[in-house]
Amino acid sequence: MKTFHIHFNGIVQGVGFRPFVYQSALRFGLKGWVNNTNDGVHIVFNASPELAQNFYEFLLANLPPLAVVTEKKLEKYPPGNFDDFQIIESEGKTQPQLLITPDVALCRDCRQELYDPADRRYRYPFITCTNCGPRYSIITSLPYDRPNTTMAEFKMCDVCLDEYNNPLERRHFSQTNSCPDCAVEMQWYENGQIIENFTDLNKVIDYWNQGKIIAVKGIGGYLLTCDATNPQAVETLRQRKNRPAKPFALMYPGLESLKKDVILSPAEEQQLATRHAPILLLPVKQPPHHTLALNLITKGLNKIGAMLPYTPLMDLLLSAFGKPIVATSGNISGSPIIHADESAIKELSHIADALLMNNRYITVPQDDGVEQKSIYGKHIITLRRSRGKAPIYIHPTLQPKQSVLGTGAMLKSVFGFSHRGKIYMSQYLGDTSEYESQESYEKVFRHLEKILQPQFDAVVSDLHPGYFTTDFALQISRKYSVPHFQIQHHLAHFLSVLGENDLLETDEPVLGVVWDGTGLGTDGHIWGGEFFAYQPGREIERIAHIGTFKHILGDKMVREPRISALSVLSEYAPGKISLLQNKFNDSEWENYPKIIRQSQLLSTSMGRLFDVVASILNLTDIHSYDAEASIRLENLAWQYFSKKDIDFRLSYLIDELPENFTEFITGQILEDLFTGAEKSLIAARFHLSLARYIFLVAEKYNYKYIAFSGGVFQNAVLTGLILKIFEKTAKKLYFHKELSPNDEGIGFGQIIYGLQKLKAL
Ligand SMILES: [Zn+2]
Ligand SMILES: [Zn+2]
Repeated sequence: MKTFHIHFNGIVQGVGFRPFVYQSALRFGLKGWVNNTNDGVHIVFNASPELAQNFYEFLLANLPPLAVVTEKKLEKYPPGNFDDFQIIESEGKTQPQLLITPDVALCRDCRQELYDPADRRYRYPFITCTNCGPRYSIITSLPYDRPNTTMAEFKMCDVCLDEYNNPLERRHFSQTNSCPDCAVEMQWYENGQIIENFTDLNKVIDYWNQGKIIAVKGIGGYLLTCDATNPQAVETLRQRKNRPAKPFALMYPGLESLKKDVILSPAEEQQLATRHAPILLLPVKQPPHHTLALNLITKGLNKIGAMLPYTPLMDLLLSAFGKPIVATSGNISGSPIIHADESAIKELSHIADALLMNNRYITVPQDDGVEQKSIYGKHIITLRRSRGKAPIYIHPTLQPKQSVLGTGAMLKSVFGFSHRGKIYMSQYLGDTSEYESQESYEKVFRHLEKILQPQFDAVVSDLHPGYFTTDFALQISRKYSVPHFQIQHHLAHFLSVLGENDLLETDEPVLGVVWDGTGLGTDGHIWGGEFFAYQPGREIERIAHIGTFKHILGDKMVREPRISALSVLSEYAPGKISLLQNKFNDSEWENYPKIIRQSQLLSTSMGRLFDVVASILNLTDIHSYDAEASIRLENLAWQYFSKKDIDFRLSYLIDELPENFTEFITGQILEDLFTGAEKSLIAARFHLSLARYIFLVAEKYNYKYIAFSGGVFQNAVLTGLILKIFEKTAKKLYFHKELSPNDEGIGFGQIIYGLQKLKAL
């Protein structure tokens, strides 16, 4: 008999790991102990070498559902004598170096108990277990134990405490454990009055039925909710929230009810049921089963963002209501979701008729994540990475020793850092040109800084001098007295997708297709329709881009697709410019062309090219939300492909790569328009041509590996067409998988850059 030590690290806290080890040890008849520290789970036990190996393999093969092991070892240990097997107290002395468990949607066992009249937690809105419930959103420090969460102030009743202490229970060491006798309590806020100890969920149902708006506190913050089948209610919500056009997300009572309204593939069905329970963009059946206030919800798009209840409270409410509700983040436009009760009363009580609050404090705001599937293939695209995913990112191989902070971009801000071999990526933190988002960004940063105590070796930001995140990087680099590196926006995008796909050390050169809205290029012009080449040890080369056009009026051009249209037509189709005249008033029509002529600033932005096409087709001239023109153009192309097969013979581009893609595509589209082609066909042909364009560039430069990044690759139609066009070739395609192709992924690219710079020093 010898003594052995097993160490596991990764997502091992708040997932029922110790009870699992305990029960397994009993099964193997082992004596020793297990504990939970700041560097993971340690198990020490006596066994023969053979039994120790078997035990180790058994544990790895039967991990609890939420656990992820990223580091593991079995080794000999100084001999010890044990009377039995015990779970011993957690220690928090060492520096934290484990993954923080993200929040988890209601599990199947808990849902069953929730509706079982014989269960003592029957209809208890805060039922949880070691396999589900809040984690990151309630943690105040590590290790993850009740005193280090916002559940600390809730005292467990005797029955709950027994469950908690019994290693054979599902709720052994369940830090979120509570029941109706030691409950998380709800409050009802209406007209300046708070009703404590509120339990009457029927009131919410009544209010929804009356067309009222209720702000409901969830996991990451407050959701604004109303009956999705009541046009008056949805319209009121739009007006009060001052959100005229951006689509609202819906929450359905369950899969069966959702299936009646949308077209759902098996891959999507699976995705909805994952533990992070995202919002999925799904095509609506025509007509849907529920009499949705569709026009008011999607404002002309064919897809709805839908999710299933991920908290027991929402599950109870929705199952009683029996119909879908609008469930949109309670926030001020562009800022993260409101999570503190005081702010909710202050900011949301003029939008909502009442607030359903509770006394479990949320430490950091998290919006619901958003995803969609490509129209071809099974590729799931992350549009917003947040609740259920943050604040971790598990990379299959990367375990950097050095700690680098990447502060991200501006509009879709996410920061991330490497720390003791792990990568942490924050939740989506909104548009940091807004003050509220800056505050929230700093708050979440300080929170993770306090919990994990990183010792940064370098800080990396965007090249753009005007970004909040650039200033922030400067501030942190001073605080830690470490270098501040800056990397160009699109190069960071490229490094991000290379890093995510483990291509940094590849022997095969990689073609990078980086398409997005706006980023400052290294030549001082605006980039965004770029082709790069990567080879390890060499500088990334910009090998091609779409044809340039003038960028004028700063961000105004980004908000107004009609200006991009004017700029591109002035350059490439001056004879057709009158087509746009009715989009401008007299003084604009007189002045803008002059400004365009005089401007020295050039753009190669693919996002703007989408704007041009959307404006020419009269889809959008002025954005009412970010990227509206691109979304409408994608939607129009989707309408076409939902009825017709993909046929690349319809591409404008067939064999020959044009010298200037911008000029070529604009000319073709104008020609189609003047011959009276259907708009949806034009949108489809535009998308087919983009895929074909990439194909021809890859052929010309003879690349086998192609990686895609940038906000344009959120486009489910384009992504699907790319998958299709390369399907029967020997090319290998690399998309973002876990991270988003949009600017949320920039921070990770910055980390990669910082690590490379430190290595080169
Ligand atoms: Zn559960
Ligand atoms: Zn209890």
